[in-house]
Amino acid sequence: MNFSRSALLVILLVAISTVAIACDGDLEPPPGGEITVITTTYPLTFLSEKIGGNRITIKQLAKPGVEAHDFEPAPSDIRDISNSDLFIYNHPAFESWALNAAASAASADGDNSPTVTVQTINLEAAGENHGGQEEDHSTFDAHVWLNPLKAQEQADRILSALIEVDPEGAQIYTRNADGLDVELQALDDLIGKQISSCELDSVVVSHLAFGHMAERYGFGQIGLAGLSPEFESGPAQIAGVIKKMNDLGISHIMQEPNVSDRLAETVAAETGAELLTLHPLEVRTSEQASSGVDYLEIMKSNADALQTALRCD
Ligand SMILES: [Zn+2]
Repeated sequence: MNFSRSALLVILLVAISTVAIACDGDLEPPPGGEITVITTTYPLTFLSEKIGGNRITIKQLAKPGVEAHDFEPAPSDIRDISNSDLFIYNHPAFESWALNAAASAASADGDNSPTVTVQTINLEAAGENHGGQEEDHSTFDAHVWLNPLKAQEQADRILSALIEVDPEGAQIYTRNADGLDVELQALDDLIGKQISSCELDSVVVSHLAFGHMAERYGFGQIGLAGLSPEFESGPAQIAGVIKKMNDLGISHIMQEPNVSDRLAETVAAETGAELLTLHPLEVRTSEQASSGVDYLEIMKSNADALQTALRCD
């Protein structure tokens, strides 16, 4: 009895220490960031960081505080893409230069192994404009990350690409991606509850970035500008927006942080509307980046702003 008891104890100890070693192995910092990833915009950085953890090192091309639609890569950016393991972009509707950059990275010479490229949005997911317009990239709304469920789809593509580049990390990436999935689902639930019972059904935005969010949570966006902030609006369009605001009783204008928004300010002054910030999340502001405010927090602020503008319970 005594013997078998101590034998059992030994077996248990061995089992426990084996488990402890296995856990240790999991918790130990992975070899450390040697997978190099280039992202174009902040949502891709956020999703990649969450999934890649400290196995990867990320460089985001469009810096905080810039107008991301205007970004053009410098020759050094193209070199960085060629030298990286993975290049992650949204869609040519957003980064019109990305296909060329990816092609030149794929044919990168010499000792560099070719860069894997992932386009995180497909045309269907980006929402085709069925308004009879040309099948021009400018008619696709690439801002899919503003719907957390579509951000999940982007995350799935990033996960597959990371596993392709670094199969040894598959288990860690998958576990991280599962955690991210839960967070995005919780965010979607939260926003859905916040914007469920509202007096108004439309908001005025400075550029039409919020179509995917609007579709998901059931509101409409009235744009002072088009899909990209630099689409200039004529006086007739602006007069039309002001009329709609009066007709619908809209008393807020959603302004973006990273573009100078004189149009929104002018219309606000004209109509007595209040300005609120709605963040398209293409890149963070410099302050958000330095203080580490992330996608989840900015999306929650967006939901608060929408709740006010739409007058939801
Ligand atoms: Zn945009």
